[in-house]
Amino acid sequence: MSEWLEERRRVLLTAQQLLEKRLTVGSSGNVSQRVGAELLAITPNRRYTEDLTPADIVIATFEGDVVDGDGIPSSELMLHVGVYQARPEVQAVIHAHPRYVSAVAMTGRPIPPILEDQMIYLGGQIEVAAHAMSGSDELAAAAVLALGERNACLLANHGALAVGRDLRAALYACEYLEKLCLAFLWASLLGDPDVLPPEVVETEQAFFRMMQRTESELVGARIRR
Ligand SMILES: [Zn+2]
Repeated sequence: MSEWLEERRRVLLTAQQLLEKRLTVGSSGNVSQRVGAELLAITPNRRYTEDLTPADIVIATFEGDVVDGDGIPSSELMLHVGVYQARPEVQAVIHAHPRYVSAVAMTGRPIPPILEDQMIYLGGQIEVAAHAMSGSDELAAAAVLALGERNACLLANHGALAVGRDLRAALYACEYLEKLCLAFLWASLLGDPDVLPPEVVETEQAFFRMMQRTESELVGARIRR
């Protein structure tokens, strides 16, 4: 286990923070980190986070074969793999069932660009992936499509998907998404929330894309070294 001990510790810590921040409940939700080119460290299937040790974090291939660890990888493994294959710069993926995300996700309504931190940290309008069975390839494909180049999306009648250049960024993306859903719900009680002006959206999305490209190049340089 020692070869991937640091990655396992970080994945476990993030899973614990997800629970402490009340972004998920019980054994639901899953956390992963990319390990090298085609491996990931991922939380095990249906285990309570408070019972886990670093040794329980599973090292698996993108095909789902366990390379190291006694546990079974999360049933949402293909959701994580789908993102890593579509987004080379992404280093960490979190899937969770936060309460306000859950409320918006069951309406199927995307969240238009309404908040500055939504633009800066999540990358624009939040799309909703079409409903598909948990753990299915169909869910992974729908989620990758809804995520696009942004850092978060909703999964219809299900929950949240958040990604980042590392586990901390993915965790904060999940937290920003939950805060955005709360604000969206409250604002919707007062009427339709005001959407940011189109020129602001365009400028901020261009800036977000530039930052993503920079991160992608940095990751590429790290892999080449
Ligand atoms: Zn789920």
